[in-house]
Amino acid sequence: MKKKISKLQIFRTIVQIGFLIFYPGLFILTFSQLSNIYSMMLKGKFNFIQAFPTITAAATFLTLTLVLGRFFCGWLCTFGAINDFIYLISKKVFKTKFRVNPKLDSILKYVKYVVLIFIVTTIWTTGSHLFSSASPWNAFAEITQFPQVLSDYTIGFAILVLIIFGAFFIERFFCRYLCPLGAVFTILSKLRIFKINKPNDKCGNCRLCTNNCAMGISLYKTNKVSSGECINCLKCIETCPRSNTQAEILGEEVNPALASSFAIIAMTGVYSISNLAATPVNNVTTASTGNNSSISASSNTNIANSSDDTNSSNNANSSENNTNSSNTSNSNNSSANVDNTSTNSSAADTTNSSSSSTKNQYKDGTYIGTGTGFRGGTTKIQITIKNGKITNLQTISSQDTPQFYQGAISTISDEILSSQSTSVDTVSGATFSSRGILEAVQNALSKAK
Ligand code: SF4
Ligand code: SF4
Repeated sequence: MKKKISKLQIFRTIVQIGFLIFYPGLFILTFSQLSNIYSMMLKGKFNFIQAFPTITAAATFLTLTLVLGRFFCGWLCTFGAINDFIYLISKKVFKTKFRVNPKLDSILKYVKYVVLIFIVTTIWTTGSHLFSSASPWNAFAEITQFPQVLSDYTIGFAILVLIIFGAFFIERFFCRYLCPLGAVFTILSKLRIFKINKPNDKCGNCRLCTNNCAMGISLYKTNKVSSGECINCLKCIETCPRSNTQAEILGEEVNPALASSFAIIAMTGVYSISNLAATPVNNVTTASTGNNSSISASSNTNIANSSDDTNSSNNANSSENNTNSSNTSNSNNSSANVDNTSTNSSAADTTNSSSSSTKNQYKDGTYIGTGTGFRGGTTKIQITIKNGKITNLQTISSQDTPQFYQGAISTISDEILSSQSTSVDTVSGATFSSRGILEAVQNALSKAK
């Protein structure tokens, strides 16, 4: 018998495809927003105005998840959608559904908390970029530049392949077992008021809802789905032949299509508004005094006056990747050192690649450079050099998605100013924006010679 596909699932698939096309980086953005807020607080550099767009978007996603549950996961997240699509293909190819033993499944679901704890305590806390090349999200975000992904994110790409392989056999493999953002959402959504109600006394023995649950929840055991694992895909509602599975808010039955539309509009709306709010923030940027020199911060409109904590930063490890989109003809790891503290001999200069000892290599003044950001957009940055040091970085314009750009510029400008070098890592989740910024700074420095 041919299985009927419900209107709600068609609607969900359309929404997923739409987000895949128009907001492909939403997952990475949301996760990097949490990372940004965390690292700002950790470094004691929390600046509310600068962080406002980030906080608004992150708080909205978290609050909506707290109240309504994981609509983000079931409907909006690109990574989740990819898992769904791969599994769909697998079902068509193998004509069967693979299942994991429920006991093993419930144990494996704890792995994502281990991943989350590891990322927070190791990567976020130390500010290490060592794992950037191991990030499957970075590899995924740049998959269109396949050869570069293979060289820059070799481990990340290998993990991505494993994730895709897993998604072939287990529905929502990544979401169930590995996603650190999913771990946060699982905890939060435990308290949601939007629930799936399924009175057992009216149930037959078909277990269709359980068999069709994307997250492997044993619905047959429960009267109400209170598990934080539920991603509100609503498949269980439409598979029940007795219409015994309903969506409800605070005990009142609600139309699931309406509830999901509301959640999607709310999340998309706030994301767009916070993007708009981030736009003016992009036009003013970070200033600093470089190291502990006597140069004062410049007088222009700096909202993120990140008086740097000199050498507490992690710039020592700044070598490994991704500054290779320089406007110059050099290949990988192009960098420009203003101060001579580094032993790094790389150079943005096309003519002089050997002069790393370069105090006063650059003339004092302000210089504007351009770089290529996300999807070929132009990033224009003004730098100020005083006593041979970069003392100020200011965005003149950027065509990148504001939130990605904001995440990149706030981190990268800090690192350039404190290390006095463009040999810094790109920001995970905002690689293209990072490259545009680094390229623009290198371009400006090349004019300061
Ligand atoms: S669990 Fe993670 S990857 Fe899966 S949908 Fe949620 S945020 Fe996206
Ligand atoms: S309980 Fe229902 S809504 Fe939740 S994940 Fe399972 S099938 Fe989807």
